[in-house]
Amino acid sequence: MATSSPVVAASAAKAATPAEAAAKLGATYPHEQMATRPLDLNPAHWYAAIKWHYDGGTLNWPMIIYIGLCHYWAVLGLTRLATVHTYTLLWAYVLWPITGLGITAGVHRLWSHRSYTAGPALRCLLMLMNSIANQGSIFHWARDHRVHHKHSETTADPHNAQRGFFYAHVGWLLCKKHPDVVKEGKKLDFNDLKRDGFVMFQRKLDPWFTMFMCFAFPGLVAKFGWGERFWDAVWVAGFLRYIFVLHSTWLVNSAAHIFGDHPYNEQWPAENPIVSFFAVGEGWHNWHHQYPYDYAASEFGITSQFNPTKLFIDFFCLLGMASNPKRATSSWERTKMKRDKGVFEKSNFVLCMEGYAARGADAAEAYPAKKQD
Ligand SMILES: [Zn+2]
Ligand SMILES: [Zn+2]
Repeated sequence: MATSSPVVAASAAKAATPAEAAAKLGATYPHEQMATRPLDLNPAHWYAAIKWHYDGGTLNWPMIIYIGLCHYWAVLGLTRLATVHTYTLLWAYVLWPITGLGITAGVHRLWSHRSYTAGPALRCLLMLMNSIANQGSIFHWARDHRVHHKHSETTADPHNAQRGFFYAHVGWLLCKKHPDVVKEGKKLDFNDLKRDGFVMFQRKLDPWFTMFMCFAFPGLVAKFGWGERFWDAVWVAGFLRYIFVLHSTWLVNSAAHIFGDHPYNEQWPAENPIVSFFAVGEGWHNWHHQYPYDYAASEFGITSQFNPTKLFIDFFCLLGMASNPKRATSSWERTKMKRDKGVFEKSNFVLCMEGYAARGADAAEAYPAKKQD
C-alpha cells in the first residue's frame, strides 16, 4: 500500500524495496504491520494482535494487570474531581510538571543523554521528582532509552514505531521484549549510571520506593497538609495524575515518532508541538534524534518552541547547581552550510548559463547536445 508515512520510508530505505520492507514486517508481525496504518482503530486488528501474542505466550501479564488497575484507579480519581479540596486539585496539577521534569530533565536529558552536568543536590532532587513519576527505575529507563536511540525503528528498538501507534505508545510494555532489544541492551555501557549513588539508591529500592513516592506520598501530603481524605488524594493526585503523565510521556514514543514535520532528518521521527505541551518540551523529536546530546532537545529557544525543561535546566545552571549544557546549533549550522553549498553550486551553473545568454552566446554551443544520428 502506497503511503507517505516517514516510518514506512525508513523501513523502505533499509530494505531493497518498499515491498520487501512491508513483506519483512508482515512476516515478523502479521498483525502489527501498522507502518501502513499507524493509528489503527479497527477492533478486528486489535483482536488479531492480542490473539497473536496470546497464542505465542508473549503477553506480559503482570504489566497488563498493573497498567489496567492503574487506569481503573485513575477513573476513580476522575469521579472524585468534583468533591476533593481545591488544594488537592492544585497539588495534582503541580505534580504534572514536577514529575514531568523528573522524566525530561532527569532520566532523559541528564541520565540517558548526559546533555548537561548536575551537582549532587540537583541529582538528588531529580531522583525524587523522577520517583514520583514512577516510570521504572532511572537505570532501566535510561538503558531502554539508549537502546531506542541506537536502534530506532528496528526490532532492537524497545518501542519500535514501525509496529504501529499503539505498540509504540503502550503495547511494548504489555508484551515481552523482542530478543534483539535484550541482546543489544547488553552491548551498551552503563557504568556511568552504576557510578551514580542516587541512581543506584533508587534501583536498589525498586519498585517500592517509586511506588510509595508516586501514590502514598501525594496522599500523605494532602492528608496532613490540608486535611484531605487520604484515599481521595491517592486517586486524584496519585493515580489520575500518574496516568496523565504516563500518557504524555508515551506520546513522545508514539505521536512524535509518527506525526509531524521532519526538518532535520527527512524520514523520522517528527517535530510535534502538541506532544511538547503535554511532555513539558519533549516533542521536538526530529531534532532530538538528530542531536541527542543537545540539552534543549530543540533547535530554538523557549520563546519559539515550548520547552519548560530547557528553562528548568537554564535556571539551575544560573544557580550553579548544573553546568556544561551542550548545544547542537553550531553543528546544525555547519550541516546547513554544506547543504546550501550544494544549492549554491547549482545556482552557479544557472548563473553561468545566464552569462552566456547575456553575452549573446548560444548556451547550446557551450554545452553541445549529444550528436544525433
Ligand atoms: Zn524517540
Ligand atoms: Zn532521547
